[in-house]
Amino acid sequence: MPQYTPPLRDMQFVLHEVLDVTKELKILPAHAELDTDTINAVLEEGGKFAAEVIFPLNQGGDQEGCSLDPANHEVRAPGGFKEAYERYVAGGWPALSCDPEYGGQGLPHVVNQCFYEMLNSSNQAWTMYPGLSHGAYECLHAHGTAEQKRLYLPKLTSGEWTGTMCLTEPHCGTDLGMLRTKAEPQADGTYHITGQKIFISAGEHDLAENIIHLVLARLPDAPQGSKGISLFVVPKFLVRPDGSLGSRNRIYCGGLEHKMGIHGNATAQLVLDGAVGTLVGEPHKGLAAMFVMMNAARLGVGTQSLGLTEVAYQNAVAYARERLQSRALSGPKAADKPADPIIVHPDVRKMLLTARAYAEAGRALTIWTALQIDKEIHSPDEAVRRDCADLVALVTPIVKAFLTDNGWIAISHCLQVYGGHGYIREWGMEQYLRDARINMIYEGTNTIQSLDLLGRKVLGDAGARLKKFGKLVQSFVGRRSANAGIPRAPRRPGREGHQAHL
Ligand SMILES: Cc1cc2nc3c(=O)[nH]c(=O)nc-3n(C[C@H](O)[C@H](O)[C@H](O)COP(=O)(O)OP(=O)(O)OC[C@H]3O[C@@H](n4cnc5c(N)ncnc54)[C@H](O)[C@@H]3O)c2cc1C
Repeated sequence: MPQYTPPLRDMQFVLHEVLDVTKELKILPAHAELDTDTINAVLEEGGKFAAEVIFPLNQGGDQEGCSLDPANHEVRAPGGFKEAYERYVAGGWPALSCDPEYGGQGLPHVVNQCFYEMLNSSNQAWTMYPGLSHGAYECLHAHGTAEQKRLYLPKLTSGEWTGTMCLTEPHCGTDLGMLRTKAEPQADGTYHITGQKIFISAGEHDLAENIIHLVLARLPDAPQGSKGISLFVVPKFLVRPDGSLGSRNRIYCGGLEHKMGIHGNATAQLVLDGAVGTLVGEPHKGLAAMFVMMNAARLGVGTQSLGLTEVAYQNAVAYARERLQSRALSGPKAADKPADPIIVHPDVRKMLLTARAYAEAGRALTIWTALQIDKEIHSPDEAVRRDCADLVALVTPIVKAFLTDNGWIAISHCLQVYGGHGYIREWGMEQYLRDARINMIYEGTNTIQSLDLLGRKVLGDAGARLKKFGKLVQSFVGRRSANAGIPRAPRRPGREGHQAHL
């Protein structure tokens, strides 16, 4: 059975010693009152929730999966998922970094980022239900009409309703310009939406009383290609003007995918048969609006692999300290035992240190990115807001692709540390590897992230964003070069002390 201990000290190190977030947040009126103790206390409680409530459901959820009742199109998530979600809502966790105007707690993204790392370490499949909801919240917050915000944001904030993103169709994944789902305008200002969506994460389930689908579709007069896509909000149950639930909307789960990993998350085929929706943002500009959700999701997917890398590393290093095989090249290290723990072997150490390096660097990169988002939203200085927006745009494809490509390598190393036992289900490592594989594919494959980085983010502005980032790195290195706390690594071999760090 795998174990998980929330890496609170490592998070505090990045938050307070590397980034000094409390000082940075003080400049933002929305977070000026926040202190270090409050951040640490929230994360401690969040870590308890993740490790004690969500983590124990991970292996069972993988083995049981989701089930569809074809008679009524209802989906049941694995045992315990619904109850854990109820506790999540009761604890106020969905509202952590949401806008107080809609019932949110208004805490900064840096706190939510750390919380989501812990949720993903504990159970990626479960975490996708609230994770997608938060993306839908952000999209409607940025582009919804006043009425859409009034009707949907409070319930997405509280977590009583969850959200999805419905882009993919059978014939179009990467190339959304080919999508065919149609939206017919109605006299009452709504639209009737007809088409088929596939691979919709959290597309149908029993965790919440309503599901708010954000659906891309074409209006009758839409131009060809990606310039003719509009965005609609399509609730599973129609919502009356007073916010109460109305009749069942005509959007149904037609099937669930049988897949390699994240079995606890329902990957739904959705049929829209004249489903009632309302337009989000402007006609034909839906892709731009949806990008708010996609960018949030890209950072979220990077965090999924960060979470899995951390939990895989924790287990691999514990195993390597216990498992006795062969003697160290430099002579016995556990002479009283029949063999040394495998952590003495250089190749095992290399694999563990690789995973640890990706976990620690990934944590620093994601928390730094979250801090830029907080400044982008709340800085009183317009130039700072613009710079931060540029930096976030630049690093978003890096967070997504770098952390998921290297998470895959790191988790595979962690499995390798277990030898044959890593391949056996009960140890949990093969699930982490299976779960991590999708992170390189969805939310735009990693190839698409690299095209986005180079094409739009670097060449698109003739390197202006990249230069901003380069300046930051240069000034950081300059400031730290004289830091006595970063000693040069000694060159002598067989250093005894370094084992303790693993
Ligand atoms: C478990 C799961 C959950 C998902 N959840 C959601 C969801 O919630 N909502 C949603 O809308 N979608 C979801 N998806 C869909 C996912 O985002 C797509 O699978 C992904 O975007 C790729 O599309 P595709 O599968 O059609 O592959 P394709 O677009 O057919 O691509 C196939 C291959 O061609 C490559 N390729 C394509 N275009 C180019 C190019 N221009 N240059 C170089 N290479 C290229 C791709 O990188 C890929 O390797 C999910 C998928 C899965 C499997």
